[in-house]
Amino acid sequence: MDKLFFNDEHRLLIDMVKDFATSEVEPVARQLDAESRFPSELVAQMAELGLMGIPVPEQYGGAGMDTVAYAASVMEMAKADASVAITMAAHTSLGTMPIVLAGTEEQKQKYVPKLASGEILGAFGLTEPGAGSDAGATKTTAVKDGNEYVINGSKIFITNAGHAGIINITTQIIEAGNNLGVGAFIVPTDTTGLKIGPPEKKMGWKASDTRQLYFEDMRVSAENMLGTPADGFKTFLKTLIGGRISIGALGVGTAEGAYLKALKYSTERVAFGKPIHKFQSVSFKLADMATEIEAAKLLVMHAAWLKDQGQDVTKEAAMAKLFASEVAMRATTEAIQVLGGYGYVKEYDVERYFRDAKVLEIGEGTSEVQRMIIAREILKSIQ
Ligand SMILES: Cc1cc2nc3c(=O)[nH]c(=O)nc-3n(C[C@H](O)[C@H](O)[C@H](O)COP(=O)(O)OP(=O)(O)OC[C@H]3O[C@@H](n4cnc5c(N)ncnc54)[C@H](O)[C@@H]3O)c2cc1C
Repeated sequence: MDKLFFNDEHRLLIDMVKDFATSEVEPVARQLDAESRFPSELVAQMAELGLMGIPVPEQYGGAGMDTVAYAASVMEMAKADASVAITMAAHTSLGTMPIVLAGTEEQKQKYVPKLASGEILGAFGLTEPGAGSDAGATKTTAVKDGNEYVINGSKIFITNAGHAGIINITTQIIEAGNNLGVGAFIVPTDTTGLKIGPPEKKMGWKASDTRQLYFEDMRVSAENMLGTPADGFKTFLKTLIGGRISIGALGVGTAEGAYLKALKYSTERVAFGKPIHKFQSVSFKLADMATEIEAAKLLVMHAAWLKDQGQDVTKEAAMAKLFASEVAMRATTEAIQVLGGYGYVKEYDVERYFRDAKVLEIGEGTSEVQRMIIAREILKSIQ
C-alpha cells in the first residue's frame, strides 16, 4: 500500500497527521463525544498545521496536495476520532472544493484562502426535509430581484453549520417567473434572513456540528451564485463524487481504529488460562477485519489516485464509499464482540466507533444510492 500510493511528501504529511491525531485528538475524543462538544480548539490547531486545505491549490492558500494525500489524512484522523475527521472532511470536500471547482476567479480569491487557512469553516447545504436521496427535489427557491436573489426555504442535517463562515447551498432559481433549474450559492453566515437551528442530538459523530438552516427572505448578491443556474446542481453532484472518497476514508479509519483496539485487547484479556486471540473464533474475527480493512483501503486509495489522474471516478468513488462504510459497520460490530461486555461500555471506546460508523452508510448518498450509481455505471458499459 505504502509503496503503491505514497511518495515522500505523502509520508511526511501522514506522519504529521498521525502524530497530531495520537497526541492531541485521541486523548480528548471520549470526552468530546460524552459532552457532544464541537472541537473548536482542535480545528484551530489543524488550521495551524495546514490541514484545512490539503487538496486546495497553493495559489488559493492550500497545501496543493493531491486526493491521495487528503484521503490518507482523513483516514488517520478518523482512526482517532470520526467527528474531528468529518469536521475537516465536510469543510474541505463540501465547503471549499465546490468553490475551487466552479467558482469565478473573484469568488475563489474572496473565499478560498480564508477556507484553506482555516480562518473560516465551510459547510454544504443540499439536503432538505423533502429532498435527501432525491436531492434535485429541492423546494428552496431563489427569486431574482435586481442584482440579488431572495431565498426562501430550509435545509436539514448540515455539518459544520453552527461554526461555518460560509455555506454553499442549492436552490431552485427563478427569474422573471421562469424556473431555470437547480443552482447554487455561496452564503456567508452573517447574511440577514439566515437562521441556523440548534445542534441535532445524534447517535454518533457527537462532536460534529449538525444543524438545520432556515432562509427567510434571505437576500444574496447575484455575485454569489456558484456556476450558472444550469450547472450549479451538477457542481454539487460532482462535489459529492469527491466527497464520497473522503467518506470512504472515514470508513477505513473508523474500522481500523476499532480493529486496533480489539487487536490489543485480544492480547491482554485472558480467558480459560490464555489470551483470547488464541481462540480461533477470536483470531478469525481479527483476520476478517484486517482483510476487509485492507480491501477498503485499496478501493479508497485507488479511487483517490484515479481522481488525481483526472479520470471520472463516479463508479470507483461510489464503490469505495459503499464498501468502506459497510466494512466500518462490520468491523466495529466485531470489535465490540471481541471486547465482550467491555465493548459495550464507554471506557473502552469501541462503542463510540460503532455509533460513528452507522452514519457512513447514510451521509453523502446512502448505501442504496451508491448501489444505484454503481449499477448505472456498470450497465452503461454493456448498452
Ligand atoms: C450526521 C449527518 C450529517 C449530514 N451532513 C450533511 C451535510 O453536511 N450536507 C447535506 O446536504 N446533507 C447532509 N446530510 C444528509 C444526508 O446526506 C442525507 O441524510 C442522505 O442523503 C439521505 O437522505 P434522507 O435522510 O432524506 O433519506 P431518504 O432519501 O429519505 O432515504 C430513506 C431511505 O430510502 C432509501 N431510498 C431513497 N431513495 C431510494 C431509491 N431511489 N432507491 C432505493 N432506495 C432509496 C434510502 O437509501 C434510505 O434507506 C447529513 C446527514 C447526517 C445524518
